[in-house]
Amino acid sequence: MRKKFTTKIVIIVIIALLAPLTSYTIFQFAEREKDEALIQSIYTQQLNSILFSVNQYCWDVFNSWVSEIQSVCKICKSMTENSAGIQAVLELMNNTPSITGIYIQKKQIEGFLAFRESGSGKRPNVKYEKERLKELIEKSSNELGRIVNHAQDGYIRPFITPWKLGDNREINLLLFPLINIKMEKEETPLAGIFIDNISFVNNIIARKFDEMDEGDFIFGVREMNTDEVIYSNSENNNIKFERDEKLWILPSLKLLIKIQGTTLDQISRTRTQRNLVYIVLVNFVLIFGLYYLIRNVYKEMRLAQMKTDFVANVSHELRTPLALIQMQAEMLEMGRVRTKEKRMHYYQTIMNESVRLTQLINNILDFSRIESHKKEFNLKPTDISALVTNTLEIYRFHIEQKGFVLQKKIAKDLLVIEIDEEAVKLAIVNLLDNAIKFTKDEKRIIISLNKQEKAVVVSIQDFGIGIPESEHKKIFDKFYRIGDSLVHNTKGSGLGLSLVKHIMEIHKGKVILKSKPGEGSTFSLIFPVA
Ligand code: ADP
Repeated sequence: MRKKFTTKIVIIVIIALLAPLTSYTIFQFAEREKDEALIQSIYTQQLNSILFSVNQYCWDVFNSWVSEIQSVCKICKSMTENSAGIQAVLELMNNTPSITGIYIQKKQIEGFLAFRESGSGKRPNVKYEKERLKELIEKSSNELGRIVNHAQDGYIRPFITPWKLGDNREINLLLFPLINIKMEKEETPLAGIFIDNISFVNNIIARKFDEMDEGDFIFGVREMNTDEVIYSNSENNNIKFERDEKLWILPSLKLLIKIQGTTLDQISRTRTQRNLVYIVLVNFVLIFGLYYLIRNVYKEMRLAQMKTDFVANVSHELRTPLALIQMQAEMLEMGRVRTKEKRMHYYQTIMNESVRLTQLINNILDFSRIESHKKEFNLKPTDISALVTNTLEIYRFHIEQKGFVLQKKIAKDLLVIEIDEEAVKLAIVNLLDNAIKFTKDEKRIIISLNKQEKAVVVSIQDFGIGIPESEHKKIFDKFYRIGDSLVHNTKGSGLGLSLVKHIMEIHKGKVILKSKPGEGSTFSLIFPVA
């Protein structure tokens, strides 16, 4: 019945808790790859948005140059060589290292073109470059027309093309319309900015990278034509960048980025692994909790069962001796017992049974007082050898009457220790009583008292049925009785040893048991001495 109930509880607990837990764990393991991909995509998006902001910044820089050229051209009527407008445009070029040259269209086929001096002090041949420019404008008229239309809608998008100067310098030309200005035939003139890649990277992009650098990322720029990394904020030349993005205004360049010290793969793998470890740990804790819960439920049920057994045992134990005492006292009273020996026998039985009853009642009362913390112990210096001797004298008759031989090995010295006399007596009596109850053949009890270095030890040794190792701890639990047939047939409440243990705890001492089945048992009460 009890087993069935426990099994039921275990099944309910497993269904209610373990099943969802395991399915969740399995699900997490199965979804591991998806999780990794999700984490990677989050980080990738973060890297992309950083590159996006750098791109946006470069775009803004270029637009600021465009606006400056636009506004200069709008105010200045003439764009002749010495005009204030051209002077302002030249100033912009000279102050901006990334700008190698500027072109401003004046008429359909004519325009102003100027270049900054190269490192070697040479200037490109303006006339020659102008010719090439004219050719380009004519050749790309369709595309340029579209750009003008876009600009009229308010969106300036440059026409970008690589440009190789006569001195072999490779730069880029960005052509854009000068809106709100008209040439003859109502046509919108064009302007162009020649940008030097290397200088743009070093002066504009690198500055932005520096601004954003908080040690978390490594940035770089790759030249697509040569596939060479032309800039990186790391000293290591073999960096494997994880994300790249074309630079909008100079499409032959790619912005590069990676996370410092790790890779996206590593991050996502460590994260998912850490999550899985947490889940395994939680599982472990929960399973341990479940095990603990089931164990406690089982323990409580065992205790409840033992309490029921206890009530049955105790009622039986009270009723039997009382009936015997009553019957024999009545016989004596009525004078029905003729011989002296018989009368003596009846007196002895009455005496024995009342001793047993007193002990049982004392046990129960003391036990309930100790359990509810109501029992007060009165520890005072007491000569323990006198106490042991006196207790034995009181019980000697009872013991010998049961056919036992009592051997005493009491130390002669005066051993005075702090104890509660009544409690210690109760402990000894309980141990003696057990020795009697659980002995079948070799009816011998040795009681010894001796002083060790830091303790006084009272031992009660019997040669009875003994106790298996697995029960050594349990027999000190309240109501616990070994399920052996002899134990079953002997009277008892299962409280005796629990009381002995309590009593020894009060004395800051302990009970030590040495016993093997069939070889008897020795219970030693260890009283520590300061
Ligand atoms: P009770 O003696 O009333 O059953 P105890 O708490 O004194 O309860 O003992 C608990 C159990 O320990 C006993 O039921 C018995 O099985 C076992 N036990 C105690 N003392 C001995 C002993 N000297 N020899 C063998 N078994 C013992």
